[in-house]
Amino acid sequence: MIRKFSPKESRRPKILILGGGFAGSNVLREVQNQLGNNAEVTLISQDNFFLFTPMLPEISSGMLHPSDISTPIRTFCKTANFCHARVSAIDIEDKKVTVIRIFDQKETVFEYDYLVLAMGSKDNFFGNVNIEEFAFTIKTLEDAIAIRNHIISVLECADQEKDKILQEQLLRFVVVGGGFAGVEVATEINHFLHDAAKNFYKNIDSGKIRVIIVSARNGILPEVGEELGNFALDYVQKSGIEVMTNTKAVDAGEDHVLLSDNTIIPCATLVWAGGVTVEPLIAALKCEHGASGRLIVDQYLRLKDLPSIFALGDSAHLADPHSGAVYPTTAQIAIRQAKTVSKNLSAEISGQENAMKEFDYQNKGVMATIGKRVGVALINGRKVYGFQAWLLWRLFYWLNLPTNEKKVKVAFDWLLHQIFRADIMTVGFIKKKTLTRLETPIYSILERSKDESSENLSYL
Ligand SMILES: Cc1cc2nc3c(=O)[nH]c(=O)nc-3n(C[C@H](O)[C@H](O)[C@H](O)COP(=O)(O)OP(=O)(O)OC[C@H]3O[C@@H](n4cnc5c(N)ncnc54)[C@H](O)[C@@H]3O)c2cc1C
Repeated sequence: MIRKFSPKESRRPKILILGGGFAGSNVLREVQNQLGNNAEVTLISQDNFFLFTPMLPEISSGMLHPSDISTPIRTFCKTANFCHARVSAIDIEDKKVTVIRIFDQKETVFEYDYLVLAMGSKDNFFGNVNIEEFAFTIKTLEDAIAIRNHIISVLECADQEKDKILQEQLLRFVVVGGGFAGVEVATEINHFLHDAAKNFYKNIDSGKIRVIIVSARNGILPEVGEELGNFALDYVQKSGIEVMTNTKAVDAGEDHVLLSDNTIIPCATLVWAGGVTVEPLIAALKCEHGASGRLIVDQYLRLKDLPSIFALGDSAHLADPHSGAVYPTTAQIAIRQAKTVSKNLSAEISGQENAMKEFDYQNKGVMATIGKRVGVALINGRKVYGFQAWLLWRLFYWLNLPTNEKKVKVAFDWLLHQIFRADIMTVGFIKKKTLTRLETPIYSILERSKDESSENLSYL
């Protein structure tokens, strides 16, 4: 049974939001505006920033910098709290969530009255452990930075490699996935690789660079429809990217990819953008699940039979009442659903159930960049190609960056990129220090110092 909160009640209802992506951070922002201090809101996320994923492929090419597209979640916290931790268990019976603090791995338990599940999705390797081990992915900021570092290191290595066969192997870059993420990362790295080779690597013939997209479908970008998809395929191929359609990657090693038609591609780079699934924690919840483990929600975005739990974004499964098709996993849907969830939470908490809203949204359009100043867009059924579509993409996503600071940074980086050559600086590996114990430190330090001459030690 859901416990109703009256505005006169002394204890404020506790709202726990899990995930700080498009869905979670937008619920956080909206719910604070609507409820102010009338609820105790806490957002828990394993990243202390909100990541603007549509521009992630531009991090892998160095067009943008990581801080351009990531905004600290605390920037959005007016009355709410933020907890930097990984969710490790969700107990829907006792209304408790267990988290592991990122810094020192300490476990903490949160209680809630209302839970918002917004933990997004993760890469789906369809059980292929070798691909999981050897492929780069493009889901997080670390992924994009890793791709950038790797492709620069590959260029450095290829420049020194005297064996022509090995050099050709190094210069083959395979991207699996013909959807938005796969196509955008392939076109970004293709442009970067040619630009960098031409300007800096004298021993690399840029004609030897081969970027290959492997698509399981008959073409690429199925989301934009056949005509725009064909235009995109044609353009991408003309820009030098090879596209292998109706083909799947079925195995991989550190130096090759095996395709479903038994072709082996010797290469040193494999990027996987071949599909998503939900977090295992979400998949394991005892409630109804749809395709890829997504949580089945009603039109109010609540879990069936669990009305105090809302789910949205990539984690939620809901059919469009008009078309009957399941809403796609896009930022656009996550943002819209966040508005509905916040309204419904406010209505619940203030006891105005009649004010609850059903989620009913029709996609206004889809856009993708497919090369230097070229894109495709389908907006309200209107097809837009080439430069116009690319400009629309930039304008739309730029306007949707969460703060003015990010808008200025991105605009400057885009501008600088038009003026200067590709930046080929690589960061190498990043040293990370993690504290594993933070229990009353003074005592644990004393404990560890017992055998040493502790009489001479003093503490602040
Ligand atoms: C490369 C790329 C390009 C894309 N381009 C577009 C585009 O152009 N247009 C578009 O509409 N969509 C695009 N998308 C899809 C879009 O990013 C997602 O649909 C959207 O992010 C979904 O929002 P979400 O909040 O559900 O999930 P996310 O934004 O992924 O957020 C999930 C949050 O949960 C947190 N989290 C996950 N697990 C845990 C845990 N165990 N403990 C604590 N925190 C956890 C994560 O850290 C993150 O903060 C793109 C995606 C990618 C990867």
